[in-house]
Amino acid sequence: MDERLDRAPCGYVTITSRGVITYANQAFLDMVGYSKDDVLNHHMESIMSMANKFLFHTYFYPFIQLYGHVDEMYLTLKSNKGENVPVLLNGKSGEGNQTELIECVFVKMSRRIDYEKEIRNAKREMEEAYRVKNEALEKLEALHWDIEAKQEELIRLNAKLESLAVTDTLTGLKNRRYFIDKLDSHIESFLLSKVPFSLLIMDIDHFKKVNDTYGHLAGDQVLREFAQIIKEHSKETDTVARYGGEEFIILLPEADEAQSKQAAERLRKSIEHASWSHCPTTVSIGAATFTPEDTNISILAKADKALYTSKSKGRNRVTHFADIKESL
Ligand code: GH3
Ligand code: MG
Ligand code: MG
Repeated sequence: MDERLDRAPCGYVTITSRGVITYANQAFLDMVGYSKDDVLNHHMESIMSMANKFLFHTYFYPFIQLYGHVDEMYLTLKSNKGENVPVLLNGKSGEGNQTELIECVFVKMSRRIDYEKEIRNAKREMEEAYRVKNEALEKLEALHWDIEAKQEELIRLNAKLESLAVTDTLTGLKNRRYFIDKLDSHIESFLLSKVPFSLLIMDIDHFKKVNDTYGHLAGDQVLREFAQIIKEHSKETDTVARYGGEEFIILLPEADEAQSKQAAERLRKSIEHASWSHCPTTVSIGAATFTPEDTNISILAKADKALYTSKSKGRNRVTHFADIKESL
């Protein structure tokens, strides 16, 4: 029996009610690295750390006296080499004439401790991974906002660039490039709808004199005032552009010959009667209405021809190409 107990898969120890070891099986001795002689008749607490001695004293004895048994008490024994040996202890008071004896069973807990360590390490690693992940997420979010802001800025800049590309910087009117695009799209619509439209080319009279008399800056001011007046006296749907130098051009959608003449005359008068910062100013205007035979080049040439006629007839007047006897 003793032999079988020696090889049991747990440490088996009997102690007196005062804690003196009276029996220890081989499995227990292997656990703590002592021989039988080392432990027999020695106090159980002699193979425990200080903290465990205290625990043993305050918990084990009172409990076993009260209930006759102690279940699953975690303890750390000290081996002969001073190493910690974590164990699970079950204790039970002897019965009958053995009441003075307490039987103790010890199961080594090193595996459990290792697992606990692994779990603790895994938990720490997981927490660290979460921290790194959250940090990366925060960075990603910051980057996201940064990119959004940059994209918005880019869209704003693009819109500004687009507008700059089609705007005349001196007058704020649309430029020649924009006008030609508009003209082309009106020609395309005309080919489908056959609804006429007209062009007005306007050239400030004797503008060179303004520069010569009042200086180039005054000339610029006249150009700005001129642009403002024709913009104010045009319809929202008209395309008003600076064609170059002191020449301006207006596309009148859905305007036939008569309507274009009326619009041109109204503009001419508004220039003539405006109050100017430097000197009275007049304009000569050439008008042309698009016909099925026209192209973007021919309609511009016709309006130009009509303008030339207005100039040669004494300026400050409107001529429609249809009223000129000579052809292009
Ligand atoms: P006309 O009645 O025959 O049109 O005579 P004009 O003096 O208006 O015509 P001309 O072509 O002889 O002169 C146009 C002048 O416009 C010459 C040029 O220096 C001036 N000019 C062109 N662009 C600008 C500009 O941006 N600012 C200023 N101040 N002058 C300009
Ligand atoms: Mg000119
Ligand atoms: Mg001129």
